[in-house]
Amino acid sequence: MKYRYAEMIWYEIKEAAEQDRVAVLPVATYEDHGPHLPVDVDVVLCTEICERGVARIPSEAVLVPPVPHGYSPHHMDFHGTITIGWDTFIRYVKDVCCSLAYHGFKRILIVNGHGSNTSPLDLSARLSNVEYEGKILCASVNHWDLRKVKDVGATIRESDYGGTSHAGEFETSLYLVLRPELVDMRKAVDERTPLPPSFKTDLLAGTHPKASAARLIPYWSSQTASGVMGDATKATKEKGEKFLEAGIEGLIELIRELRATEILPRRDQHDN
Ligand SMILES: [Zn+2]
Repeated sequence: MKYRYAEMIWYEIKEAAEQDRVAVLPVATYEDHGPHLPVDVDVVLCTEICERGVARIPSEAVLVPPVPHGYSPHHMDFHGTITIGWDTFIRYVKDVCCSLAYHGFKRILIVNGHGSNTSPLDLSARLSNVEYEGKILCASVNHWDLRKVKDVGATIRESDYGGTSHAGEFETSLYLVLRPELVDMRKAVDERTPLPPSFKTDLLAGTHPKASAARLIPYWSSQTASGVMGDATKATKEKGEKFLEAGIEGLIELIRELRATEILPRRDQHDN
């Protein structure tokens, strides 16, 4: 059964929508990931997790071609970053989702691979729901926030809080599995933000007591010289395999949860 949207004939896409399959849309960005990793980390991690997840449940989901470019102005001091204006980006992704909705997909899951896309993608999803007047369910999730990834992260990570932020233990381990020939572990470093605890970020933070809901995103170059924020030296292929499997299983779980979610009708009180 075909699961890649790009490889389907138009009437196969019509059938996929009629089967209520969830449209899974990977979104990421190109930006610096330290001296040991290429700039495509977020794109590779996000699209590979989606590709492998959807491949396991082709009757329940379709893999939409990824949106590779995202919102990353605070990384522009590092060569290689490509950033899209926040409003263009929000509308672009919303237009992709609304095109899918127009063809009959009622449940759309945006899977994000880049931290600073989180807020804009939340809006892309919500604006799509509003544009379709509540007749679709468009949701977004960061791949590292999938429940299984948090659980596995809490058990196998070796770095302390802050160690699994940008290009650190988590992302480097995953990339070691997916593109090992492109990683130079001799150049891996442990570099942390000088920001106080409440403003430190950590992808696998979860319910860690040090995790804070406060948000502060200064220019990346003001916080790190290498571009790394976290402990890349703790990355291993073995951990990466466990993170990858957790990402795939966590994604399948979420796709199924979204697919089973009822689309409840609006009850506009103005109509009474
Ligand atoms: Zn990244």
